[in-house]
Amino acid sequence: MTAESRAFQAEVGKLLHIVANSLYSHKEIFLRELISNAADACDKLRHAALQHPELIKDDPNFQIRVEFDAKAQTLTLSDNGIGLNREDMIRDLGTIARSGTQAFVEQLTREAEAAQGDGKGKKARPDVSLIGKFGVGFYSAFMVADRVEVTSRKAGEAQAWRWESDGQGEFTTSEADGLLSGRAGRGTDIRLHLRKDQKEFLEELRLRHIIKTYSDHIAQPIYLSEAGKRPVDEKSVNAATALWTRPRKDVTEAQYKEFFHDVGHSFGDPWLTLHFKAEGRIEYSALLFVPASRPFDLFNAERKSHLKLYARRVFITEDCKELLPPYLRFVQGVVDSEDVSLNVSREMLQHDPVIARIKAALVKRIFSELSSKAEKEPEAYATFWENFGSVFKEGLYEDVAQRDAILALARFRSTTSPGLVSLEEYLGRMKEGQDAIYYVPGESVEQAGSSPQLEGFRARGIEVLLMTDPVDEFWTSSVGAYKEKPFLSITRGEADLSKIPMVEDSPATKAEAASGSEVDALIARFKTALEGKVKDVRVSQRLTDSPVCLVADSAALDMHLERLLKQHQRLDAVSTKVLEINDRHPLVKRLASLAGSDGDGALAVTEAAQLLLDQACVLEGETLADPVGFARRLTAAMERSLNATI
Ligand code: ADP
Repeated sequence: MTAESRAFQAEVGKLLHIVANSLYSHKEIFLRELISNAADACDKLRHAALQHPELIKDDPNFQIRVEFDAKAQTLTLSDNGIGLNREDMIRDLGTIARSGTQAFVEQLTREAEAAQGDGKGKKARPDVSLIGKFGVGFYSAFMVADRVEVTSRKAGEAQAWRWESDGQGEFTTSEADGLLSGRAGRGTDIRLHLRKDQKEFLEELRLRHIIKTYSDHIAQPIYLSEAGKRPVDEKSVNAATALWTRPRKDVTEAQYKEFFHDVGHSFGDPWLTLHFKAEGRIEYSALLFVPASRPFDLFNAERKSHLKLYARRVFITEDCKELLPPYLRFVQGVVDSEDVSLNVSREMLQHDPVIARIKAALVKRIFSELSSKAEKEPEAYATFWENFGSVFKEGLYEDVAQRDAILALARFRSTTSPGLVSLEEYLGRMKEGQDAIYYVPGESVEQAGSSPQLEGFRARGIEVLLMTDPVDEFWTSSVGAYKEKPFLSITRGEADLSKIPMVEDSPATKAEAASGSEVDALIARFKTALEGKVKDVRVSQRLTDSPVCLVADSAALDMHLERLLKQHQRLDAVSTKVLEINDRHPLVKRLASLAGSDGDGALAVTEAAQLLLDQACVLEGETLADPVGFARRLTAAMERSLNATI
C-alpha cells in the first residue's frame, strides 16, 4: 500500500495553527504530554495483557525512552505500550471527537484572533497550556517541532505504520518497515524534528530537568540517552514507582502537585490533597485531589468521574462510575486496591462488593475532610463551595443517606449576610415565632435579592436564603426540612408572618391598612376584572413597598421552576398565579376607596387591576400575554395623571 494523505479535521487544523504560532513560554510541557501518552499506552497494554498474556511475553518490562540527536536535531520518544495501527492513527491523530474539546478549540481560535487584532499584543494570548486538559496533548509537539513522525506497531499485529505531518493541514500514513528507533517489537516512536529555535531540547541536562520536574511520578521508568552513544548509566531519570504507593512522608508537595497536573491535566495547586492507605478488611491506597477550579466537563451530561482505578498497580479503568457517586465527580485521582480482581471487567465492577465498600469509605473520608475544612478554614471552604457547591447539592436528592451531612456542609447566600451562610447559622438567627427556613429562587443573587416578595421579610428582619443554582429547585422540593424546619419558598403559597412583628423603624410599620370592607370590595372587583388570568387575589403579608406581587399557588410548581422547565421545553403551559395586594400601599388604598363606586371610578379600578397584574408579571420576568393592551393602558394612565397634575 502506498502513502495516503489526508486533511486534518477542521478543528485540528485550527488548533495546530494556533499551537505552531503560540508564544507560550513553557513549551517544555510538550514533553510531559507525550510522556503521559506513552505511560497511558503502557497502562492500556498491561491491562489488555491480563486477558492476553501473549501480547507482552517477549517484552514484559514496560519503559519509556527519550533519545536526543544533536546532529539530526531530533528528539525521539519511544514506548513499548499498546501501539497504534493505521485506523488508530487516522482517528486519534487526525480528529477531535469530544465536544468539550471542540468548544475549547473554538475559544482558543477566538482568543488568538482577538490577540492578533489588537496588534500590540496586550490582550491575553490564548492559553495553550490547557492543551493537555482537553485531551489534545499530542498536538503540543508542534509547539517545538516543524515535522513529526510517528511509527508504531500495535501489540499483537504484524504490520508497523507511519504517520507524518508538518502540521500544515495534512498528514500522511504509510506502511513502515519497522520502528524508527530500530528497536524490534511493539509500541510507538514519536520523532520530533525540532525547530531551529528549540535547540534547548537537545541538551541532556535540560531534558533531565524537565522529565524530573513534570514526570517523576510516572510509574514506568524513563530512560534518557543520546543517539549513537551508549547511555552514561542505565538508571531511569524518574523515580519510576507509582506515587500513591510511596509513604506520605516520602512525597514532596511538588511531587503531589505534578501528579495532580497529570491526572487532572490541571494547573496550579490542588485545593485539597488526600493521600491515605486503608488497611483492614479491604486494602487500598487512595490519592485524591479536589481542584482549585472547575474542570471543563463538570457540567457535561455524562457526569463522568475522574478517578482512576488500579488493581495492584495495574490500571483498570479511568471512569469507574461505581467508585464515587456522580455528585462527587469533582474529586480526581487514583484508587489502587489489593482486593479488586485483576480480571474485573467494567460490567463486573457494577456488582463488585469490594468496590462498593471502597466507595462507602471514600465518601465518608471526603465528607469528613470537607467538614474539617469548613470548620477550620471557612474562607478556603467558600472557594470550594463556589466551584462545586452546585454539583455537591445534586447529592441531596440522589443520596438520601447523606442528605443531612450534605445540608450541614451546604452554604448559601442570604438577604442579611454578605458572605456564605450555613443552615446552622441560619437556624441560630431565626426570629421568634419563625418556624420555617425561607428562601427565594432566582437566576442570580441580584435578581433574587430584589424580588418584591422579599419586602415583608425584610421589614421583619427575617433572613431569606437566595437559591440561584438550577439544582436548588429540585432538592428544595424533595428535601422538605432541615432539623425539622421546613424549607419554604417565599414566592409560593401563603406566607403567614403574623406572629413576627415588624422591625420598629420600618416605614411599613407606620402605614395604616385600608379598611377591611373596602379591601374586600377591591378584591372582588379585581377578581372580576382578572377572571381567568389569576388563580386568586388576596391581601399580602410579604409586601411593604410594592403595591402587588405574584406568587405561585401552593398546589402548583414554584414560579422560577416553571420558567426553567418552560425554557427547556419540559412544560407547555404555566399555571395561573395568585395576585397578592398590599393593603398599606397608597395606590391600593386609593383604589380600595373607589371599589364601591360605579362609572369612571369602577373603570379606573378595572384598568388598574390589569396594569398592576402586567407590572407584577414584568417583575417576575414573564412575558406579557397582551403587550399592546398593556401599552395602551399605560399611556392612558399617564395621560390621566398628567391632566390631573398640570
Ligand atoms: P489524550 O491523550 O488526552 O486522549 P492526545 O491528543 O494526547 O489526547 O492523544 C490522542 C490519542 O492518541 C490518545 O488518546 C491515544 O489513543 C493515542 N496516542 C497518543 N500517543 C500514543 C502512544 N504513545 N501510544 C499509543 N497511543 C497513543
